[in-house]
Amino acid sequence: MSAVTAHLMPTYNRQPVSFVRGEGARLWDEAGRVYLDALSGIAVTGLGHAHPDISAALCEQAKTLIHTSNVYGIPWQAKLADRLAAISGMSSVFFGNSGAEANEAALKLSRLFARQKGIENPLVVVMETSFHGRTMATLAATGNAAIQKGFEPLLGGFVRVPYGDLAALSAVAEQHQDIVAVLVEPVQGEGGVRPAPAGYLRGVRALCDQYDWLMMVDEVQTGIGRTGQWFGFQHEPGLLPDVMSLAKGLGNGVPIGACLAAGKAASLFAPGNHGSTFGGNPLVCRVAHTVLEVIERDGLRARAAALGARIQAGLSAGFAEVPAVQAVRGQGLMIGVVLDRPCGELVRRALDAGLLINVTASSVIRLLPPLIFTDADADELVASLVALVRDWLQENETQITD
Ligand SMILES: *Cc1c(COP(=O)(O)O)cnc(C)c1O
Repeated sequence: MSAVTAHLMPTYNRQPVSFVRGEGARLWDEAGRVYLDALSGIAVTGLGHAHPDISAALCEQAKTLIHTSNVYGIPWQAKLADRLAAISGMSSVFFGNSGAEANEAALKLSRLFARQKGIENPLVVVMETSFHGRTMATLAATGNAAIQKGFEPLLGGFVRVPYGDLAALSAVAEQHQDIVAVLVEPVQGEGGVRPAPAGYLRGVRALCDQYDWLMMVDEVQTGIGRTGQWFGFQHEPGLLPDVMSLAKGLGNGVPIGACLAAGKAASLFAPGNHGSTFGGNPLVCRVAHTVLEVIERDGLRARAAALGARIQAGLSAGFAEVPAVQAVRGQGLMIGVVLDRPCGELVRRALDAGLLINVTASSVIRLLPPLIFTDADADELVASLVALVRDWLQENETQITD
């Protein structure tokens, strides 16, 4: 079966491969060739491919009931909301189908919060190099001009500051009276795998308390165990945001997004304020509930932390004498290798070597392996990536001196 047709809108530059089967951290293409998946469909399949518990939950529920409507009670949705509240400390949840929708819900909450405060033209503080999605509101929140280009006029109501810079956030608080919220990623993913500096989120929380803003964390990529905690904000003990968005890893591949709220944001939505036809249907909620059960049962948050440390240490050692590699950074299984030059072509070279990786922010190799990686998988990833990058750099050098 061909994956190429003129009848698909060309929104993606696709790699010349189609996978037909997966198992754990491995994918097989049409020719039967096997690949090590260090990308997880961009932080989605944290439990790997065809996980037996996920497949069983999915099949069981598909045979029972897939969809009713949010005009009726949905027990699996309630059960999932209870579980998410228990592991996050948040108090209420709205279910949608994607990360962008989760952030849309968060932004809508900030507008209702503004109404409550009597603010007519509210501002949300967003970060440089952030990524929040591709819908009209979330692309306006995103700190990347290339994503916004062509879609002007952009939704207004955002003010942007450098990521990780508390002084800049304080300064903007003094400049604008109408700020109602801050939207921030605990580790910027698309923006180049940039972890927040230690203490940053705590500082954001303090400013949100001081100025009565909502602290909204975009955990679409960092959430569901990937960084070594259930959620990225939990690396700062005792911290609780007012709003959190989730998606990617929550469904291990079934489309689900969630916007969670606590404290002053928990009861802003009332009947009629927001909705989604598909959001939170029995199928996706049962699968997501199973995802959370498996992560807990198999100790995968601790595994993500240990694997992340192992991979980062391996890469740091492997690139120690490679000046073109400026940094290895990340948190848990969100790992970036920062090069001193654009390196997009490494994605194809890795593919040819049977390894699935990604390059973001043009010069950062991005690794998002599944939480079910074995130590051997981690070592294989390190060995092949180090060899690949060294070879590529050597060829580049040769070309320059020739
Ligand atoms: C992927 C991502 C989104 C968008 O999620 P979609 O499901 O593609 O809409 C939003 N925020 C962050 C941090 C992401 O990584």
